[in-house]
Order: sequence, then structure tokens, then C-alpha cells
Amino acid sequence: MYDVIIIGAGVSGAASARELSRYKVNACVLEREEDVCCGTSKANSAIVHAGYDAAEGSLMARLNVEGNQIMPELARELDFPFNPCGSFVVCLDEESLPDLRTLYERGVKNGVKDLEIITDKARIKEMEPNLADEVAGVLYAPTAGIVCPFNLNIALAENAYTNGVDFKFNTEVTDIRRIEGGWALETNQGVYETRYVVNAAGVHADKFHNMVSGTKIHITPRRGDYCLLDKSAGNHVSRTIFALPGKYGKGVLVSPTVHGNLIVGPTAIDIEDKEATATTREGLDELIAKAGMNVKDLPMRQVITSFAGLRAHEDHHEFIIKELEDAPGFVDCAGIESPGLTSCPAIGRMVAGILKEKLGLEPNPQFNGSRKGILDPDTLTKEEQAELIKQNPAYGNIICRCEMVTEGEILDAIHRPLGARSLDGIKRRTRAGMGRCQAGFCTPRSMELLHRELGLPMTEITKAGGDSKLVAGTNKDRI
Ligand SMILES: Cc1cc2nc3c(=O)[nH]c(=O)nc-3n(C[C@H](O)[C@H](O)[C@H](O)COP(=O)(O)OP(=O)(O)OC[C@H]3O[C@@H](n4cnc5c(N)ncnc54)[C@H](O)[C@@H]3O)c2cc1C
Repeated sequence: MYDVIIIGAGVSGAASARELSRYKVNACVLEREEDVCCGTSKANSAIVHAGYDAAEGSLMARLNVEGNQIMPELARELDFPFNPCGSFVVCLDEESLPDLRTLYERGVKNGVKDLEIITDKARIKEMEPNLADEVAGVLYAPTAGIVCPFNLNIALAENAYTNGVDFKFNTEVTDIRRIEGGWALETNQGVYETRYVVNAAGVHADKFHNMVSGTKIHITPRRGDYCLLDKSAGNHVSRTIFALPGKYGKGVLVSPTVHGNLIVGPTAIDIEDKEATATTREGLDELIAKAGMNVKDLPMRQVITSFAGLRAHEDHHEFIIKELEDAPGFVDCAGIESPGLTSCPAIGRMVAGILKEKLGLEPNPQFNGSRKGILDPDTLTKEEQAELIKQNPAYGNIICRCEMVTEGEILDAIHRPLGARSLDGIKRRTRAGMGRCQAGFCTPRSMELLHRELGLPMTEITKAGGDSKLVAGTNKDRI
């Protein structure tokens, strides 16, 4: 019997696992997909929000600001990309300036540092030359930033794993039953028993909550569509540009990404199907229509891909992180919609704090909070690169030409703890396939590496686990 089972290996589950691994505990993460970061944590704006949005006094506001404060140090400790680029909320007309002030005041009350309202147009233009000419003022939040959501999630999970937490993939929890001293979790891979459950199942968290509690919750999947633009458009703005919700609607954000692309989105469309992550024509049309409101001359012809993510919107728009009164031993981590990515370091601490107290956990003397990410040869000097290639020629073999990802990086992605098992696993860890050709060139080459390194037949290699196989057979099979 485990002490703790966490359902879900998104940022909430992985951050909870990592914080829990600071203690002597027998813990396990069950994830239905083949890898970490396969749910909402892989499809969002990747913004580290400053914290002026959430209602004053809410758990969301508290964890947002705490998470924002922890993120820079966490990025250093776990070696994932983070850029404290700051953000603007753009107000386009003088009569809406009081709304900007409302945000400012809420931010100050929430504990956001260094917020500033700028109405000096020359200064605004100097900071962001491509902002719409009609700008009346902006709320500047220098503590906002951007992060690589994949590597944040992967780094947290890897670090939890190296500190002793088990991870079981392709393991879907189907039912939860009360047993003597804890819970039995039915899965497609058999039954797991545990003293405590952490419910970090994203848009599906209401299902598990409602299985064990008489007080029901309801999560609506709220879809957000995005367009991702090529790196040639990456410098169009240098901060995240939010629209001030107002008479023109909610607007969409325009932001650089940590890897030098430009992201435009998201929409906010309530749907019923919790698996429906495909973009739609109407969603993208809405996005494109709103995109140019705050930022001019957006080069929308540079779109290289579009995608959508589902917010886990609970009816009360609040994070639910607590042990359930009518189901002792069951800890919810539900309703984790935006700013969940920002908040995850604080969410992890809160969940681990509850479990530490309940289980009376002792510190883990072997805990090591640092982790080294995959070496990116681009960060080295020419001389260092030459030396690296001499030591390991795989770093001289380019597999993904768009993102200049080498064989050495992909081998590292496959062989490191909780390594990649699919093309998307490689993509999220190294960016091979994320560039302008969107994996047109590197797909067969990455497949050959998975085949060679893992001994997988080509016919078993998948894009993203499950049935997403890429090869149906060989030509000779037909003869
Ligand atoms: C459009 C959009 C934009 C956003 N932008 C931002 C932003 O800029 N900044 C920010 O801070 N936040 C943002 N967010 C919110 C943020 O992405 C989420 O709060 C966060 O990723 C939620 O993480 P999670 O781990 O709770 O859920 P998920 O990442 O969804 O993880 C849940 C996991 O549970 C697994 N699971 C589900 N059911 C089962 C089962 N039966 N058995 C086993 N495993 C199961 C899933 O496969 C999944 O891996 C955005 C969200 C969206 C949708």
C-alpha cells in the first residue's frame, strides 16, 4: 500500500510529487497518458502571471503571487527556461482607464510588487513600438514572465522521480473505493492501494471528487485556441501584451515565448467534451479578428501551427485544494485553471504541506532539489561546441533542422529519468519537430532513434502513445 497516490502528471501532480519527495514517503503518480505533460499543462499561454487578476483574498490570488515569486529560483534549481519579461495590460480609450486602476489596486492588495500605470505615450511606444497607436495607458507588471511549460512540468516530475516517487504511465484510474485504512484505485493496469489520494486530474478532477464526496463539484472544459507564429515574428513585442477586458470584449494576448516564437490567443469557449482539444474554424477566426486590436501589423502569415487547450473551469472559479471533510484521506487539487501554471510551485507546497501534517512525514535526508536539463549546444561557445562534438559526435549530427536539435540532445531525452518514448515526448523535451516545418523533416529521423535506442519496432513507434502509430507496415509486407 502506498502512502500517497497522485492522479495526474500535469504541473499540479508533478509539483505535488516533487514537494512530497522532500519527505520520507512511499508515493506514486498514476497517469493515463504515456508521458508527463499531456493534459492542459502542455497547451496554454505559458505566462507566469503577476497576480492582479484573481479576486482579492482568494486562494487563486495567494497561490498566483506565491508561485510567481518562487518561479525564478525554481527555474534555476531545475534548469528550465524562464524569462522575466514583464507584461502590459493595454487600455485603448481614456474612459476605460479607471478599469486599469481597478486592476492595479487589486494587484497591490494581492501583494504584486512594482506595478505601475503608464499613460506617457512616448514611454509606452519606446517600450513596445508595435502597440496600437490609440493606446491610452497600460498597466505594467515587471514581475510577470514566460516559461517553457513542457520543461517546467518535465523538470518537476524528473526531480520527484529521482527523489523516490514512482510514476506509472498508461495507467488510467477508472474507479475509487474506500478500503480499510485508505483507498483502492481501480485502473486499466490493476488495483492500487493507498492511504491518501491526491486528485490532480485536471478537467477530469470533478469525476473523482464526485465519486467520493456528497458535496458535488462541476468542471466545464473551457477551450482556448491559439496560433503560434514563426521565430521571424518573435520580436514583434518584447513583453506579454494583454487586452483590458472592456467594450471590445475580452481580447486576446500577444506574447513572445521563451524559445523566440510569438503566441497569439487564447479564445474562451465553453464546451462539453473533455477530450475535444482540436481547434475549430470559428475559434481561429475569432482569434484572428481580435489579434490586431492591441498590437499592430501582426504578421499572421507567419503562423506555423495552431492548437487548443482546455481550462478546468470549476463553477466557483476558485482553486480547490484541501482534504475533503466527508472523505478523509482524499485531497482535492481541482479547478486548477489559469493561473495554475504560475501557481504550481505553491500548489505543490500546499498539497505536500497537507500530507506532511496528516501522515506525520519526516524529512527525506537524501532529497536533492537540483536537476540539470538537456544540454543545448547553442548555449556553448564555438570552441566548447567543437570540444563537445569531439567527445560525443552525436552532438554534431543535426536531427531537427528548424530548431537545430542534435542527435546528442535526443539521446539524452530518451535515456534520462522518465525519458521520452514517443515523437511528442522528444518534441516536448528538445523542441525537435516544433519549428517551422512542424516535424516534416525530422519525424523519420527521430523515429529511427527511438527504434535504435529502445529496441522498438518501427510499427510500434507512436506520435503520442496509444494508437497514434505512424508506420502501418513495410512495402515488402505487401509482396
Ligand atoms: C487556454 C489556456 C491558457 C492558459 N494560460 C495559462 C497561463 O498563461 N499561465 C498560467 O499560469 N496558467 C495558464 N493556464 C492554466 C494552466 O495551464 C493549468 O492551470 C495547468 O496546466 C493545470 O495543470 P494540472 O496538472 O492541474 O492539469 P493537467 O495538466 O490537465 O493534468 C492532469 C493530468 O491528469 C491526467 N488524468 C486525467 N484523468 C486521469 C485518469 N482517469 N487516470 C490517470 N490520469 C488522469 C491527465 O492525462 C493529465 O495529464 C491556461 C490554461 C488554458 C487551457
